[in-house]
Amino acid sequence: MKLSERVSRISESPTLAVSAKASAMRASGIDVIDFSAGEPDFPTPENVKKKGIQAIESNFTKYTPTSGIKKLRDAVAKRYEQKYSYPFTAKNVILCNGAKQALFNLFLCLVEEGEEVLIPEPYWVTFPEQVQLAGATPVYVPTTPENGFALHADEVEKRVTSKTRLLLLNSPNNPSGAVLSRETLSDLVQVCRAKDIKIIFDECYDCFVFPPFQHTSPLHFLPESKDITFVVNTFSKAYAMTGWRLGLAIGPEDIIAACDKLQGHTTSNPSSISQIAGVEALEGDQSALSMMFDEYARRRSFIYDALLRMPGVQCNVPQGAFYVFPDVSAHFNERMPDSVAFCQTLLEECHVGTVPGSAFGMEGHIRISYATSLDQLKEGCRRIHEFLKKS
Ligand code: PMP
Repeated sequence: MKLSERVSRISESPTLAVSAKASAMRASGIDVIDFSAGEPDFPTPENVKKKGIQAIESNFTKYTPTSGIKKLRDAVAKRYEQKYSYPFTAKNVILCNGAKQALFNLFLCLVEEGEEVLIPEPYWVTFPEQVQLAGATPVYVPTTPENGFALHADEVEKRVTSKTRLLLLNSPNNPSGAVLSRETLSDLVQVCRAKDIKIIFDECYDCFVFPPFQHTSPLHFLPESKDITFVVNTFSKAYAMTGWRLGLAIGPEDIIAACDKLQGHTTSNPSSISQIAGVEALEGDQSALSMMFDEYARRRSFIYDALLRMPGVQCNVPQGAFYVFPDVSAHFNERMPDSVAFCQTLLEECHVGTVPGSAFGMEGHIRISYATSLDQLKEGCRRIHEFLKKS
């Protein structure tokens, strides 16, 4: 059957594709170590799950306002107010079916057909696809591993045209784990103000930044950044709630209201049950979050050290999120000419799932998620090490 142009142009999510292949191999009895999934391996915290169960039992199972219940929007506004010492209200907040929907709402509300969106490389795979679905054109801004994937405001400025409407930032970054510095963000806010460009800031991994690195957001530059910044966040990562589908956007009231109008005709509210659980996630006991942070920190040290010992592998210090993005291009050859072939061979021969860097706009690298147990990490690294010694 003929597919619309719009959908024909987008590709399947490469991260989900590797995970699906790894799962299929596992189902056929193969002992696969999967480093491809971008989701916490921890269960949702007990206190959060209990509130979800209570929501069902008390029949809180009907439509809610499209943007979400006031209690959760207030809780989000309060958290941002505490973090940035700035008075956010529920009117600045929309709750969505994951950060994915929050982002898509914003693109649909903010860009016109043919306008340009600046996206630093490497980028999360969904960014360019959503931008294109909204009819806009992604314009990529390079960063280099030699500089720790640091973004430079002048590289951004150079690519601004009369059609540039948005700058899409993601810190901590998926896939590189890089965290944007305070100086860079300050410069970027100035550039965007001067050029009338809005910033969408995806901070889905803000709870996982490893000292001495620090999370900085454009909201640290309030009030200058106020009218130009939209922050996107999620319950998926910090609270291990990927399946609950709960994310959010926070920004100027008029655009948040437009997102509400749009969402009202697409999906309506995110799950009522998830929203009750979300209130508990934000306002209840945070000990599960600190346990997960400590565990990610341990795994990060392990994988980083293990990668540094591998032959022909270059790796930057992962500053945040739960990914490392080593350069394995020294192992490319006729049999494995690029990162796709490398990841395929690694999966087929050593049963280790990773994601090719080309999916994130940076050939030569692979993404390894350390949202998996230390035992799995040890075994997976052993296999990768062996594989590299032979290749
Ligand atoms: N942004 C980034 C950078 C991500 O890595 C992800 C998940 N992989 C999302 C957004 C989407 O998260 P969700 O839709 O589960 O909230």
